[in-house]
Amino acid sequence: AEPLAGSLATVGLSKSFGGVRAVDDATVTFLPGKINAVIGPNGSGKTTYFNCVTGMIKPDSGSVSYRGNDITGRPPHRIAQAGIGRSFQLCRIFPRMTVLENMLVSVRSGTVLGKLVSARQRTDIDRARELLTRVGIDHLEHAEARDLSYGQQKLLELAGVLMADPETIMLDEPAGGVNPALIDRIGGLVRTLNSEGKTFLIVEHNMDMIMSLSDHIVVFDRGSPIAAGAPEVVQDDPRVLEAYLGV
Ligand code: ADP
Repeated sequence: AEPLAGSLATVGLSKSFGGVRAVDDATVTFLPGKINAVIGPNGSGKTTYFNCVTGMIKPDSGSVSYRGNDITGRPPHRIAQAGIGRSFQLCRIFPRMTVLENMLVSVRSGTVLGKLVSARQRTDIDRARELLTRVGIDHLEHAEARDLSYGQQKLLELAGVLMADPETIMLDEPAGGVNPALIDRIGGLVRTLNSEGKTFLIVEHNMDMIMSLSDHIVVFDRGSPIAAGAPEVVQDDPRVLEAYLGV
């Protein structure tokens, strides 16, 4: 199948670790301008798939394309330059830096520490503050990141991703370990950012969040996509029930 113009897509993507086929012949097209979700049981290959797409891991075979360009195997900073930002399952921030400092090292994403000095420009600081306000943690700009709650750290990471103004944002378990009030805030932010034109790809276990937020869901099982479609279609698919319940 020919990927949609402007979309992120993979064809036959595969990655094994020893004998484990973590991602197995994954052909997927995500919908540009939409909130896409990737779900599946634990160990079904979602994180490895994300890591292959964002250049953290080189796939063994298959291809990744974005807006018509082949980006397979490019290093993470090149993927970021292409317009794809991402967060991590276990939240990547610098714990001993302040919230504002974390924002400034996120500037233009990727290999950041060397850019600390040039990043200290008025415009970057203004932008950092604007984004911290947006995610609701501007009052914490001088706190060390390690003193934030886990949910606040996730909001900081999201704000950091937004510093590079990516057009596509990949979130790995944004609601994991986060309290319900902050889950709602993260969901609301995703919705607003999407209405402003950002495309999302979200790996998430919180089914309430996924079902209410997503336009398009791709279901992984044992490394391969087994179903894709709107939430109401996917949740009634017998293959999906089988993957989750093992019936
Ligand atoms: P998910 O994100 O859906 O839980 P993962 O991508 O983390 O799935 O894992 C898919 C499979 O690949 C699992 O069997 C896991 O144990 C294995 N796996 C993932 N990363 C590694 C690794 N670095 N080394 C060895 N096996 C791995």
